[in-house]
Amino acid sequence: MAFVTRFAPSPTGPLHLGHAYSAMLAHDMARANGGTFLLRIEDIDKSRCRPEWDAQIYDDLQWLGLSWPLPALRQSHNVAAYARALSALADFCYPCRCNRADIRAALSAPQEGGLPVGPDGLIYPGTCRHRPLSEAQATDVIRLDMGKAMRSCVAGYRDNDQILQLDGAEMLRSVGDVVLSRRDIGTSYHLSVVVDDAAQGITDVVRGSDLQEATKIHVLLQWLLGLPTPVYHHHRLIRDDQGKRLAKRDDARALSKYRAEGATPADIRRMVGL
Ligand code: GLU
Repeated sequence: MAFVTRFAPSPTGPLHLGHAYSAMLAHDMARANGGTFLLRIEDIDKSRCRPEWDAQIYDDLQWLGLSWPLPALRQSHNVAAYARALSALADFCYPCRCNRADIRAALSAPQEGGLPVGPDGLIYPGTCRHRPLSEAQATDVIRLDMGKAMRSCVAGYRDNDQILQLDGAEMLRSVGDVVLSRRDIGTSYHLSVVVDDAAQGITDVVRGSDLQEATKIHVLLQWLLGLPTPVYHHHRLIRDDQGKRLAKRDDARALSKYRAEGATPADIRRMVGL
């Protein structure tokens, strides 16, 4: 069986130990399975991406000893494919004009125990759900009607050693009507990832367990778009000394910092437990 995987960083900050772990694990798995490791640059959010971070990704990964076929796919070059996928999902979509304050106000009525939060933040209360897509304005985002989408979905997938099934009630409760197209970029992380994983023939996605909830959205979108679902391998997260997950802004753990201090790729492997 072919094994094709990818590492898909966004050039919005320096790669840190957590990225190194994810990339090396994916690369090792591809090599062990006689497969292919791809790099994909997830640069749709132009306001947060910087060319210097882009260059640093290539430099850091090469330094780690990883290689991949060139050129790497850049999401900013693939926006037409995301627009086509969005049109294909039209029956399940609606335009939404609510801003964060509107959503907060609509949710804050009689909620017990805090506001409901999903993988993308507050779970949308559905205020604009009745609006037809034909009424969409340039200032609207496009949301997925989760209830409607899940009524037509019986998707299952493999997550590590488990076979899981998407559950309608749970998707409504813990994910809700996610944004598929942001007003500034005309797509979203979820939509672009699903389109690209299929276009690149990804058979196995290796990613951190922080994306386990997002994976459910991806499996649903694959189902709705008639795309194959890869096998998902969610790995443990690399944490700092306080047990906190490393973030992009966590420059202290940037790979470039370890490099500057004289660490070798073998040291990095040891530090992340590979
Ligand atoms: N660009 C995403 C990130 O850096 C990709 C993760 C993924 O889809 O595996 O978190």
